[in-house]
Amino acid sequence: MIIGSHVSFGKDGLLGSVKEALSYDANTFMFYTGAPQNTIRKPINNTKTKEAWQLMEDNKIDINNVICHAPYIINLANNLDDEKYNFSINFLIQEITRCEEMHVKYIVLHPGSSVGIERNIAINNIINALNIVLTHSKNCTVLLETMAGKGTEIGCTLEEIKYIIDNITKKELIGVCLDTCHLNDAGYDMHNFDIFLANFDNLIGIKYIKCIHINDSKNEFNTHKDRHANIGYGYIGFDTILNIVNNSKLLNIPKILETPYIGENNEDKTRIYPPYKFEIAMLKSSQFNPNLLNDIRKYYQK
Ligand code: FE
Ligand code: FE
Ligand code: ZN
Repeated sequence: MIIGSHVSFGKDGLLGSVKEALSYDANTFMFYTGAPQNTIRKPINNTKTKEAWQLMEDNKIDINNVICHAPYIINLANNLDDEKYNFSINFLIQEITRCEEMHVKYIVLHPGSSVGIERNIAINNIINALNIVLTHSKNCTVLLETMAGKGTEIGCTLEEIKYIIDNITKKELIGVCLDTCHLNDAGYDMHNFDIFLANFDNLIGIKYIKCIHINDSKNEFNTHKDRHANIGYGYIGFDTILNIVNNSKLLNIPKILETPYIGENNEDKTRIYPPYKFEIAMLKSSQFNPNLLNDIRKYYQK
């Protein structure tokens, strides 16, 4: 099983990410090159990056399974403000350049939100932008994430994802990142995952799936909410998620947890704890842990 979680990038960049991933017993990870909410970025530190590659090699983490996530504020769908649209395009190009410097092969992207323009125009803006962006990429593939359909998000149906891919010129550099919480919230039944996958294969082609975000959902099927829950603590449930991570057709695809930290709503921000070490253990052992939240608190408070 190739499994890891979202980790931070920090002052040592990729090196910090690898160390954090190893602390969760992960064999892959996903990072943002800075804060997900903003576009303040530092140049890549070459010495630290080389150390990161070495540490990965020593611990059998394959760089080909490592995923980057573009910041949320990139919106390729809306071009009402020319300057913002061009900024999004240029920022994504810079992100891809940073990925290539670090030998990272995949960057996950939220397709965008239409906010105030017609949906079909918004989708064509995404296509136009991606075709520009990809002329600047040598070997970094953009993965369109399946979205929950909150607000005016594009990419909450497989038909929209298909339409975008169909119109991309460099098809070898486009792919899909499934997100189980988003799919549930968008109205795709994760309890019948084989049916979903067959449907995906017919429409888009299973070979386009390069990453899966593994999250439970705080909301019921088809609610278009997008609130992640810890594994086995939401409406998707442990057995369904276990079935997805062990799917024989997706064995070589990296699985990334983006579940909430324990106590994330605490006022005291020093007392919030990452769940990933314990969630990865549950999935590897196929054993649900009903004491997950307490075990995590105990482990990090000691
Ligand atoms: Fe995402
Ligand atoms: Fe996600
Ligand atoms: Zn989400």
